[in-house]
Amino acid sequence: MNWLKVILVGVLMSGSLAASPLVLIMLGPPGAGKGTQAKMLEEKLHIPHISTGDLLRENVRQGTELGKKAKGFMEKGQLVPDHLIMDMLFTRVSQDDCKKGYILDGVPRTIPQAEELQERLKGKMVPIVVNLHISDEMVIDRLTNRIVCDNCGTPYHLINSPPKVSGKCDKCGSPLRQRADDSKEVVLKRLKVYHEQTEPLIAFYKKQKLLQTIECNADKDVVFSQLLASLKK
Ligand SMILES: [Zn+2]
Repeated sequence: MNWLKVILVGVLMSGSLAASPLVLIMLGPPGAGKGTQAKMLEEKLHIPHISTGDLLRENVRQGTELGKKAKGFMEKGQLVPDHLIMDMLFTRVSQDDCKKGYILDGVPRTIPQAEELQERLKGKMVPIVVNLHISDEMVIDRLTNRIVCDNCGTPYHLINSPPKVSGKCDKCGSPLRQRADDSKEVVLKRLKVYHEQTEPLIAFYKKQKLLQTIECNADKDVVFSQLLASLKK
């Protein structure tokens, strides 16, 4: 057991975080349940969940210098450069609520981002990297059968967890819809982008012996307990 793991055992036993921060990097394709698991972890460990989408939206909304720069690229239909994303990330994690640690979802997304993160954490933090693994077939099944409440965002699966009344949310009665990016055509494209861009990260972290893999074809509570166990190892 290294020092970080010793601390984590303490964290998980006490239900709150010890003095040393935890940086958890979550990898996995769309539909693996990264967002759901990160949210559950956020509640359990009381550390914030940070995604690239949230970073971009917040900076653009608040009109920060970084947000203005990012907006310039987005308006030209260009990708926001890695260093800009990482500047946003490091501005975000320097805030008080990240002192006990943070959960990264969707960032780093590319090798240059991962290298920059390693460089900045060097000598201060050893991240824990968890790969949520799921087959492409399962991703396609989950996402193309997913319908989401317009109002409260509750997701349903047309076959495995349908709403009680067809087309209506169990919780609030609002209409349920398929998201545009959950159509089969778009899901296949998202998977292709994932394989090209993010899979090299799995190799990157494996090489550094930081990677743990969890099979995500099970129920979300089963996956969550495995995720907690992976933090204890
Ligand atoms: Zn609802």
